[in-house]
Amino acid sequence: MQEGDDLIECVGCKVVFLFGGGEKAFFEEKGLSEPKRCAPCRRTRKEGRQRAANPVYEERDEVGDCDM
Ligand SMILES: [Zn+2]
Repeated sequence: MQEGDDLIECVGCKVVFLFGGGEKAFFEEKGLSEPKRCAPCRRTRKEGRQRAANPVYEERDEVGDCDM
């Protein structure tokens, strides 16, 4: 751990991860606040958002009862 590095507890999986170095510099450069989640959780959420943005609808055969 180097000076300026932060230890952050992931709100997702409660793992304490190190946030610092190039990653921290990247976030500061972009004007972003510290991440609340560890890298694996962020990746999972990102993938989840992409799935939500492009939902794959399963085509189902409508089995309708023709009582009329
Ligand atoms: Zn996590």
